[in-house]
Amino acid sequence: MVNFVGAGPGAPDLITLRGKKLLSEADVIIYAGSLVNKELLNLKKESCKVYNSAYMTLEAVTDIMADAENNGLMTVRLHTGDPSVYGAIREQMDILDEKNIQYSVCPGVSSFCAAAAALNIEYTLPAVSQTVIITRVEGRTPVPSGEDLSLLASHRATMVLFLSTGLIRELTEKLYSGGISPNTPAAIVYKASWNDERKIICTVKELYDAAKKNGIENTAIIIIGDVLNCGYERSCLYNPSFTTMFRKGENAENE
Ligand code: SAH
Repeated sequence: MVNFVGAGPGAPDLITLRGKKLLSEADVIIYAGSLVNKELLNLKKESCKVYNSAYMTLEAVTDIMADAENNGLMTVRLHTGDPSVYGAIREQMDILDEKNIQYSVCPGVSSFCAAAAALNIEYTLPAVSQTVIITRVEGRTPVPSGEDLSLLASHRATMVLFLSTGLIRELTEKLYSGGISPNTPAAIVYKASWNDERKIICTVKELYDAAKKNGIENTAIIIIGDVLNCGYERSCLYNPSFTTMFRKGENAENE
């Protein structure tokens, strides 16, 4: 059995209870290089074999999984944040399917959630944005043309950019061509939830210099949108005048 486990964003106590248990039971752990906090490996049992996938190919990873399976051993494939976000798990699952090896996924706290926590922000403010676009700028990995950042920017929804800190010039150009104003609020959160976490709130036009000045080149989330800095309407759910399934509103208008 292979268990894909979300390690969380970095702080070792941000793994789930289930993930922690699986790590302590694993016979083999294959962890995703520098972005997984090595402190999590202290949870392993003594006999557990550990591999760093930063030095491995997909084939090498799945060969180790198959080997463990043949010996009746349990493997944890430890991914940063949540495995479903830029985790390259589909290709591993497909090979496991071919090899008839069973697997299961234990979700984790994605770094975009840890970034919001670091900034004390809410991505979905009423009347500001009710949508979060999770994306990346095209670099060596292509992005489908319909998802070009300039097209996504035209929605004016909150945007969360992974894997894009080294491409801030390209990113801002695309935002401008999508009609985003240079003064739109922006933020960079470096290593959210780690001890050396850093966060910067600025504007789109200041993003490049802010990252450069702070020496931030990778392991960061970039956030664009008015939710970072603007007024909003209070929620309906907790508004005294709003009737919900559980509570009758005072002078309810929406019954
Ligand atoms: N599955 C992961 C993302 C892996 S892709 C998740 O759910 O978070 C790797 C990218 O994630 C990095 O380039 C960076 O953009 C982001 N990232 C991962 N950990 C981070 C952290 N603690 N703080 C900020 N960004 C992080």
